[in-house]
Amino acid sequence: PHVADLIAAGEVVERPASVVKELVENAVDAGAHTLTVEIQRGGMAMIRVTDDGGGIPTDQCQTAFLRHATSKLRTAQDLAAIGTLGFRGEALAAIAAVSRVELFTRTAQCDLGTSLTLEGGQVLSQEPAGCPLGTTLVVRDLFYNTPARLKFMKRDAAEGAAVFALVQKLALSHPGVSFQFIRDGKRELMTPGDGKLSSALYAVLGRDMALGFTPVRGEGEDVTVTGFVSLPACCRGSRTYQHFFVNGRPVKSKLLMAALERAYENQKMVGKFPGCVLQLQVKASQVDVNVHPAKTEVKFLHERQVFDGVYYGVLSALQGETR
Ligand code: ADP
Ligand code: MG
Repeated sequence: PHVADLIAAGEVVERPASVVKELVENAVDAGAHTLTVEIQRGGMAMIRVTDDGGGIPTDQCQTAFLRHATSKLRTAQDLAAIGTLGFRGEALAAIAAVSRVELFTRTAQCDLGTSLTLEGGQVLSQEPAGCPLGTTLVVRDLFYNTPARLKFMKRDAAEGAAVFALVQKLALSHPGVSFQFIRDGKRELMTPGDGKLSSALYAVLGRDMALGFTPVRGEGEDVTVTGFVSLPACCRGSRTYQHFFVNGRPVKSKLLMAALERAYENQKMVGKFPGCVLQLQVKASQVDVNVHPAKTEVKFLHERQVFDGVYYGVLSALQGETR
């Protein structure tokens, strides 16, 4: 592979979960209603993402794997929106550089689709192929040609757990898309994709836990907060059940965690970590984009407004429950 692709790969592709993130985002961008993520051996042996989106036209299949080949608009608004858009047009090139890739794809305009295989970024073959509408991308033997990176991988079980956690997060951030997750042949998640956050939550957390959540609605200056928070009885012992989304994208933020936990403290609900699925709609100009695009950290320009939006939203949800 080209050195530049390997450098890009180092930035974009850290582990199986980062591959899954890019492939799922592409599927969602392509208008998928249903998508399946399948992994073997924690994603190190195989990752397969199948979608029913628009597909890739035959003459664009190879270009999709070139660096900076993107069919997506790069508007100023896009870039200002949030710092997690990924490196535009780099993901497929980066993934292909460090793995063996098979692509099967068909658009509605064609009866016959395309099958394309690459190894270490080099095209091995391209053929017409019968396939369903949409795209399937198979990524095998991640980092097979970069032993130094391979050494940094955790055990397959840990990589698989990271993929599963990510898919759950993605399913929660796209309630209108039906997600399936299959690990080593076993289906572990299926969301209905009916557009309701409550349905996605139910599927991700399971019935018992979902019942322990209460809805949140918060308004602040330039910020709207909606979603669910856990009642103390079902709080879990870790922050893995805290999901924050800003303008539809999963983020990590100490500020948001602090606002959430402060509301529980106010209600004397302390001890365990609360769980939440909170969607923030924030003005694009409120979000700082000078954060590494492949990471999920987010910075707000007016932290107080965002903090208050979450804090008071959660507080009134908890007060409604204790009243
Ligand atoms: P980006 O998503 O930033 O455009 P990528 O490297 O992730 O860059 O993808 C390159 C291009 O390949 C996309 O712009 C899109 O045109 C095409 N593509 C990738 N995945 C899919 C998919 N699942 N369905 C349809 N088109 C896709
Ligand atoms: Mg992409």
